[in-house]
Parts: sequence; structure tokens; C-alpha cells
Amino acid sequence: MLTEKFGPAYGGDVAHTSGVHALVRRVHEERVLAILRERGGLSRAQIAVRAGLSRTTLSEITGGLLARGAIVVVNTDARRRVGSGRPAELLALDPHAGQYLGVDLQHARVRVVVADATHEIIAGGQAAYPEGTGRTGRPAVAFDLIDRIAAESGINFQALQGVGVGVVGPDADGSRRQVTAAFAQRFAVPVVVDNNTRFAALAEAVADGTDPRDLVYIRLSDGIGGGVVVGGRLVAGGRGMAGEFGHIAVDPSGVPCRCGKRGCLETIASVPAVLRACGLATLGDLAQAGPAVHPVLDAVADAVGRVLAEAALILNPEQVVIAGNLATAAPRVVTRAASVVAAELTPVGGAGPTIRSARLGDDDGARGAIAALFRQTPLLTDYPSTIPAPGAGRSAT
Ligand SMILES: [Zn+2]
Repeated sequence: MLTEKFGPAYGGDVAHTSGVHALVRRVHEERVLAILRERGGLSRAQIAVRAGLSRTTLSEITGGLLARGAIVVVNTDARRRVGSGRPAELLALDPHAGQYLGVDLQHARVRVVVADATHEIIAGGQAAYPEGTGRTGRPAVAFDLIDRIAAESGINFQALQGVGVGVVGPDADGSRRQVTAAFAQRFAVPVVVDNNTRFAALAEAVADGTDPRDLVYIRLSDGIGGGVVVGGRLVAGGRGMAGEFGHIAVDPSGVPCRCGKRGCLETIASVPAVLRACGLATLGDLAQAGPAVHPVLDAVADAVGRVLAEAALILNPEQVVIAGNLATAAPRVVTRAASVVAAELTPVGGAGPTIRSARLGDDDGARGAIAALFRQTPLLTDYPSTIPAPGAGRSAT
């Protein structure tokens, strides 16, 4: 779609401008378009910094793109502006120039979000798997949901540019290949498949416009998973296991973990482990519980904090995000883990990372799948679209 739209216009420009100048201009235009495809709406000043162009040159480039309708003024940055001053116009690709589907095949349900070329989420929904749906049946439930969303919101997906699909667990059995094939066959566009917790890490990294280059993400839920963003890129690792914080052993004499080792973080800080230690049945009970559970929560937070401090010493992230429904039900865990990380890092080298709870909700995996699609641009070409070989390990998240 994009090339159809932008292609002829370049030809026109080249015909009217002399050789080298036209070529340079075209390179600049492609760079600006690639930045907007990756980042959504940006002000001229933000584009100039990212493209390495002077304000004057950029003004000329965006003027041409605006005149051709390749990009549009979407709104102003008044929403995210903190100080005073006139809000800047935000420029973006024509919203109709592309659609992106983010799908999260979770344990119990599928979540779908749809974004346009400006990165605006324009539709979304969820559906529980019917009783007895196996892993191989999940894509079909997603297709039905996508059809329903399309019918309800009037989106026809004619400008679909790609599909990102989050799945649970590592690719131990090669099932991601089947998922990739199913979506590629259904939509005939590029498909990216990865672990949904890792996608959630990427979604948090791009959630608020601060755009940290380095971020560590941990999710405290029924299991414990995580993700690592290094240099602005989601790291899969050689065998797709980067960010498996749940199976770092924190107590060598602890209880057996489902992975076969003893005393993994997951045996202490997952939701079932915490509820068991507190003698409670549900997270609702935990959220209501008083000071009686604080000793358990503090021990949990200390273990989480030490693991995150080690990760931070290795990776030196700008942000650490503690997500998952344990963090939501017991914010005390986030606060105390943050102080543990700060205490471990401050003596080593000044200010540590910003440590925060997650900003996004249950659609974070689907949003991250779309963020991964946006990052598959000429500027960020090496995000893995192929999946590590099966048999990479037996850990499960
Ligand atoms: Zn384990």
C-alpha cells in the first residue's frame, strides 16, 4: 500500500529536480517515513532529532510529504505536554495507509487489537476459548474474533500490513511454526510470533513516549516471566529464553520448582506460591488482607528485588517494570522490591533505574505484538521474524 501510494510521487519529484539533489531528498523522505512508521505521531522537532536533519531541511521534506498526502497532521502534543508554550503539531502517516493486527493467544482467551498507520488503537476485543480448545485450535478462535471486530467496527483490513502474534511459553515443541503458518495463510501478510510476556515488555517500553533504550520487565503472575529490551530492541536470546527471571534460583534449599530445580523465584513469588504462604485462596483476599501478610509479602519483594538488582547490574537499564496480577493486588511488593534494587545499585554507581509498576492492562501482549511489527522497519531490521529452533529448553512461562 505504502509503495503504491508513495512510489509515483517520487518519480514526479525526480523528474523535476536535478539528479543528486533529488536522490538526497528521496533518502531523507524515506527516512522520515520509516521513523513515522516505527514511532507513530511525532512533532517536527522530534522527527528532526531522530532523522539527524536540520529544521530547515526537515521542513522542506515534510512540506512535500504533506502536500502529497503521504503524511498528515494528526493532532497536537497538548495531551502529553507538561510545561507551557504552544503545543506542537504531530505528523504521522496517513492513518488509512496501513492497519496492523496484534493478537495474544493467552492460556484462557485470545485478545486482539487493531492499530492504524499512526499507531492509534482503533479497535479491539477478546474471546474465551471454547471448552476443550487445544493449542492448535486457538488461531481459529482468533480468526472468528477478528471477523467479529471487523464487522462491528467496519474495518475491512484491505490495508493490512502485518500480524503480530503473542503465544504462551517457549517454543519447545515447534508450535510457533504452525501459528505463523496459520496466520500467514489467513491474511497473506508478514507474521511475527513471539512469547507474549516478551511482547508485553516491548509494549511497556513504548507505552508512555519516554522510549527507554534499555528496560527490564518482570511479570509476577501464575508463573513468572519477563523480557529484556536492550538498545531499543526486544532481545529474544539465542534460543528464545531471554528474560526467564522466574527460574533464577534464589533459595538453593527451597522447594522443588516445576522446571526441576529447587528454590526458583517462581516457587516464592508466583501468585500460587504467595497465596499458599499467606494461607489465602484468592488475590482478592490478598488485596483485602491486613498487616498479617506483610512478612510474607516483604520476603517475596526481597527475593524479587535481588533478582532484579542482579539483572540491573548486568544490563544497566533505564527502567525496571514490575507487572502481573500479584503486583496489582499487592503494590507493597513493587515498592519494597524497588527499594531493594536501589539499595543494591546506589553504592555501585549513582542513581539506579526508574522502577515502576506496569501501565498497561491485559491487552499488553497484543499491543506489544503490534509494536514489534512497527519496529520491523529498515531502521530496525534485525528483530527476529523467525523462531529459534525447537527443543530450546523446558522452562515454561
Ligand atoms: Zn524453576
